[in-house]
Amino acid sequence: MTNTDTMIKVDHITKQFGKLKALNDVSLEVKKGEIVCLIGPSGSGKSTLIRAINGLEVPESGHIYFEGELYDAKNKKKYAAQRGKMGFVFQHFNLFPNMTVLENLTIAQTRVLKRSDQEAKDMAMKYLKRVGLDDKASQYPNKLSGGQKQRVAIARSLCMNPEIMLFDEPTSALDPEMVEEVLEVMQDLGKEGMTMIIVTHEMGFARTVADRVIFLEDGQIVEENSAEAFFDHPSSDRAKLFLSKVM
Ligand code: ADP
Ligand code: MG
Repeated sequence: MTNTDTMIKVDHITKQFGKLKALNDVSLEVKKGEIVCLIGPSGSGKSTLIRAINGLEVPESGHIYFEGELYDAKNKKKYAAQRGKMGFVFQHFNLFPNMTVLENLTIAQTRVLKRSDQEAKDMAMKYLKRVGLDDKASQYPNKLSGGQKQRVAIARSLCMNPEIMLFDEPTSALDPEMVEEVLEVMQDLGKEGMTMIIVTHEMGFARTVADRVIFLEDGQIVEENSAEAFFDHPSSDRAKLFLSKVM
């Protein structure tokens, strides 16, 4: 079916909203340890694609495979297990405002993974330290800056021990001075070998961190290349035009 080192395989998926084809026959593969950036103009289908990979959107046709096995909501038990291996970080952090940072990080661990309170707390503190926020454990999210909230959201995802992290414009809602601290956390994750799919408009980051860039327009993959090749000599006119506007 797929190579054993393939983590995600998207096989000819199509997703429509009414008449609009948000994804039009999209296929791609992401290997273990690979960092893939999804780039493209607004409305090109980046969010729909990354959400489909996570199961937040259900394509009308085509298939998604996770570690070589069909990712299918109808197969409930397997689907839940597969989904649990994917972390998803959104543009708007989605932290629980009425819980402390620590509680935000422990709740799914105790409820979903059935970890003990102590285990969950140890894991939470480990990852808070990792993102440089262990001193904020007892704070409420509204006391944090946007950059700190996003680092907490990443730590919360990591507590679930994902095998792949999906990011949908994780820095787009941040004030410019906070973008770097979040990108650094992501870059470190990549260095540690985390598989990642990242929707981003941060071209400098994509260039430095991505193994591969996938450029979308109108629900289709227009170009797919190494970051270096994509940024130095994009082959399609559409990518050239896009890059001339954003860089
Ligand atoms: P991107 O993330 O690249 O900006 P999206 O994947 O969000 O693009 O959207 C792709 C297209 O699908 C856009 O035209 C958008 O308006 C449309 N779209 C996305 N989500 C929905 C939805 N829930 N209902 C209707 N149209 C949608
Ligand atoms: Mg989007």
